[in-house]
Amino acid sequence: MNALNQQARDRLVQLLDAYGLDPQQPGANWVQGQFIAGEGEVITLHDPVTNQPLLHYRDAGEAIVERAIEAAQTAQQEWMALSASERGRRMQAASRGLDGHEEQLARLESLIAGKPVRDCRGEVDKVREMFEYYAGWCDKQHGEVIDVPSSHLNYVQRVPYGVVGQITPWNAPLFTCGWQLAPALAAGNAAVLKPSELTPLTSAVLAMLLERSGRLPAGLINIVNGLGHTTGSALTTHPQIAKLVFVGSPDTGRLIAEAGARRLVPSVLELGGKSANIVFHDAALDDAIAGAQAAIFAAAGQSCVAGSRLLLQQDIEETFCQRLAAAAASIEVGLPGEESTRMGPLQNAAQYQCVRRLIDAAVAEGAELLTGGTPPKGLPGDAAEGNFLAPTILTKVRPEMAIAQEEVFGPVLVVMTFADEQEAIELANGTPFGLAGAVWSQDTGKALRIAHQLRAGTVWVNGYKSINVMSPFGGFGDSGYGRSSGLDGLREYTTTRSVWVETAAKASAAMGYGNG
Ligand code: NAD
Repeated sequence: MNALNQQARDRLVQLLDAYGLDPQQPGANWVQGQFIAGEGEVITLHDPVTNQPLLHYRDAGEAIVERAIEAAQTAQQEWMALSASERGRRMQAASRGLDGHEEQLARLESLIAGKPVRDCRGEVDKVREMFEYYAGWCDKQHGEVIDVPSSHLNYVQRVPYGVVGQITPWNAPLFTCGWQLAPALAAGNAAVLKPSELTPLTSAVLAMLLERSGRLPAGLINIVNGLGHTTGSALTTHPQIAKLVFVGSPDTGRLIAEAGARRLVPSVLELGGKSANIVFHDAALDDAIAGAQAAIFAAAGQSCVAGSRLLLQQDIEETFCQRLAAAAASIEVGLPGEESTRMGPLQNAAQYQCVRRLIDAAVAEGAELLTGGTPPKGLPGDAAEGNFLAPTILTKVRPEMAIAQEEVFGPVLVVMTFADEQEAIELANGTPFGLAGAVWSQDTGKALRIAHQLRAGTVWVNGYKSINVMSPFGGFGDSGYGRSSGLDGLREYTTTRSVWVETAAKASAAMGYGNG
């Protein structure tokens, strides 16, 4: 064991201890209001900084999923027995459960996900904001009265599905957990959520803090941790799960949607992206250079909305690339727990190897490495075995290359050029994805003309990456379907019941049949 890994393990022991979790056998699942250990195969978490083992835990497996769903069914009925305003008050109180735990949660997330601790603090704040926002919706989901052309009073109620199954990825575990739990609960559901097997713990701790602080019925939130093909599959195929919400890759998304379709259960899919960041020569270039870095190098590119394709108008390519490469090379890549670190390692070795293979293949196909492509220099000794990659920019990229079509999910930017508006739009829309995109220009008319033609669920003009729980988020094409956040995100967690009440003096006459 090396020095950095020992430090990480010591820190983990301290953090787990604060939540009463045994580091030798952490009860990684939060089910029916308590931490319980899994019963399946042993899963080993590795430290992203050194790739040495950090923690072992056991896959939850079918029996724990079953228990979680049963608990959720009972809790959902208790939850719906409360008035809507009481549910709102309790969700507000749940959000306050994070008070005083911000630093610990951020440190735990940073340690396991490998993300800079400053970014993880932001994620904790976002989760609080999500619960506050959706708490306000609890007593504002009124039904509707429809002016039907008959003697009926027709009204429509919004009804929760019951127990929803949610599955999240490793790149933003806390954020995605809060993002999906808050609207599910506000709509009146109970949830069973499976985080990625690579980042299990913060979701379980978060559920505990929310449930206790909000006096939520035990079992309203359940976190089951384990592998996709065991625990995940037990969740998606369970007959009591009435809706599936999945955040992850397109390949797994297809499996989830198929599992839902077999039981006629609807799904929401929040999948990957290959977002275009389009810069015209009349853009404010200092801002656009900062924006291009934020778009791809934040979270080391492990972000669904990463602006991984930079489309530059031909006449600014050389200057823009030179300035961007210099800025990228000065980004502080380092240990995730240090305040100065802007970019940490990739979360896992498999992802790191995949990113490096894609870079090598692109170079073999004729792309040129402008900067990066290798681990950064000057890392502390033990970190040389970790998943660190310097900010990487590739030029001379053609749109048909794999590096320009596939989601790399790492700090790798490809640069392509365009002559005019038409070519910019064709390039931007030239992948199967449609998650996000951006346009930089000081000509507002032009910027909006382009923005309105992008096949993407989120578009920024003269900016990148702003998102908020109030505004709907989701994809087109291979980036998925359905929406999260805002009122649209809440609506995904309810269905409707249309009630018809006859008001005619003689109901039998209105139906056209006599009574004998
Ligand atoms: P992944 O698809 O490999 O895994 C996601 C989750 O699915 C994990 O919890 C995994 O255990 C589970 N899973 C795998 N097989 C399963 C099965 N057969 N049944 C049930 N569950 C199964 O994705 P990942 O590598 O963890 O995350 C990266 C991907 O997530 C990227 O494509 C990224 O763009 C995407 N993502 C999308 C958004 C969004 O909002 N659109 C947000 C974050 C990440």
